[in-house]
Amino acid sequence: MTNAYDIVTIGGGLAGASLAKVTAERGVRVLVLERETRFKDCVRGEALFPWGAAELETLGLRRLLLSKCATENRWWDDFLGHDQIGHRDTATDTPGRTATLTFYHPEMQETLLRSAAEAGAEVRRGVRATSISPGHPAKVTFDGTGRAEIVAARFVVGADGRSSLVRRWGGFAPRRDPPRLRIAGVLFEGMTSLAHDTTLMVINPELGQSSILVPQGGGRVRAYVVFPSRGDRTLRGQRDVPRFIEDAICTGVRQELFEGARSAGPLATFEGADTWVEQPYRDSVALIGDAAATSDPSWGQGLSLAVRDVRLLRDALLANDDWDRAGRTYAAGHDRGYAAIHATEDWYTTFFLETGPAADARRMRVLPLIAAEPDRMPDTFMAGPEAAPASESARRRFFGEDVPAETGRAVQPSAGAKSSWPHRLRRPDHPQPPRGTI
Ligand SMILES: Cc1cc2nc3c(=O)[nH]c(=O)nc-3n(C[C@H](O)[C@H](O)[C@H](O)COP(=O)(O)OP(=O)(O)OC[C@H]3O[C@@H](n4cnc5c(N)ncnc54)[C@H](O)[C@@H]3O)c2cc1C
Repeated sequence: MTNAYDIVTIGGGLAGASLAKVTAERGVRVLVLERETRFKDCVRGEALFPWGAAELETLGLRRLLLSKCATENRWWDDFLGHDQIGHRDTATDTPGRTATLTFYHPEMQETLLRSAAEAGAEVRRGVRATSISPGHPAKVTFDGTGRAEIVAARFVVGADGRSSLVRRWGGFAPRRDPPRLRIAGVLFEGMTSLAHDTTLMVINPELGQSSILVPQGGGRVRAYVVFPSRGDRTLRGQRDVPRFIEDAICTGVRQELFEGARSAGPLATFEGADTWVEQPYRDSVALIGDAAATSDPSWGQGLSLAVRDVRLLRDALLANDDWDRAGRTYAAGHDRGYAAIHATEDWYTTFFLETGPAADARRMRVLPLIAAEPDRMPDTFMAGPEAAPASESARRRFFGEDVPAETGRAVQPSAGAKSSWPHRLRRPDHPQPPRGTI
């Protein structure tokens, strides 16, 4: 066994690479094990919501990403079917005044791993961790260059993503929600009709679908379509790209936005259901990012949660000589924030994406209440779990349970309300991908 480290991080994604950078620069001896020698497009998150961008700023990493690979998407446009219901300036109208950040995911990973190495972390690429043994010290075994190597560490961090094995090796018992939504994503080039600084989110409750377009500059757009997790419906590979575009148009995305679109990466579909661990710390092993909690990508909170985990764990480790206590402090903070996001996701999915007469009736009653008082919609996805906690009273207001059942239709939008929706939710009869798309 060689080389004792303070921290060994398994995985060099947003979570692992950021933690390595922000602890190595404070003198902590860090080893990062990353199995990929070169990152490729695996269809992951590329919109860091405003509260996540504020967390990144706290870590001192926002400007780094902006200078190397990220751009700001200042505007956030919401549509309910074909009706625009919001046009929000995320640079001024969010608690951190930090606009949505967007980047090509592989480039973001390269940037952060490089800066971790520059800060003094040892970064080993092309090596796969194969087991850990928790304890004091903990040990990590990995396939190095052709032979198994073992290193000892004071603290092991599982940052190995949504299919985390560290979870299992560390003896954590993951929980999983039942399937409700699936999300398909692909990168497009040539989408010059979409404003370069505007993220577009379209929700279509009638179909139980949504679509998100995240421009990255120069006509590149990361696009997602979310649909119910029923049957075997899935979109995968080049041949399904026209169907992906049809689905986005059906949801309510304007057809002309896809004029000239060419896919520039793989199209893949994922099950959206959350998988998470309660108390993601035990016996010198902590889980962060997707390994601790894979939140439903349909609501785009995973990157922000990962950055929040890094901030919580860094602060706990730097403030405590007793890293067992630091691990427990981190886990308690993680659980609080994730619980708020998880609950809010569940409410939004139930309210906006459930289909059927009961769900329609609920929307007909409550949407006018929300139109009159937009702050009935919890702002957790934009403002984060600290600024907009998911309390029981927040849930009751969102679902209109705080007013008598007959109230709703009669409510008029307040003078200050930004929109008076919904008016109509309709679906084009025969959506076709526009000419020039692939
Ligand atoms: C379709 C889709 C859309 C999404 N959209 C959004 C969005 O718009 N906004 C948002 O905030 N989030 C979104 N997310 C979620 C977001 O991508 C994740 O939350 C985030 O990437 C998690 O980062 P991570 O570092 O925890 O894990 P990952 O990015 O998965 O990194 C894990 C790293 O560990 C490495 N690794 C794994 N196993 C080993 C091993 N045994 N040894 C060594 N290395 C290993 C992997 O190679 C990888 O580099 C989306 C996710 C999906 C699937």
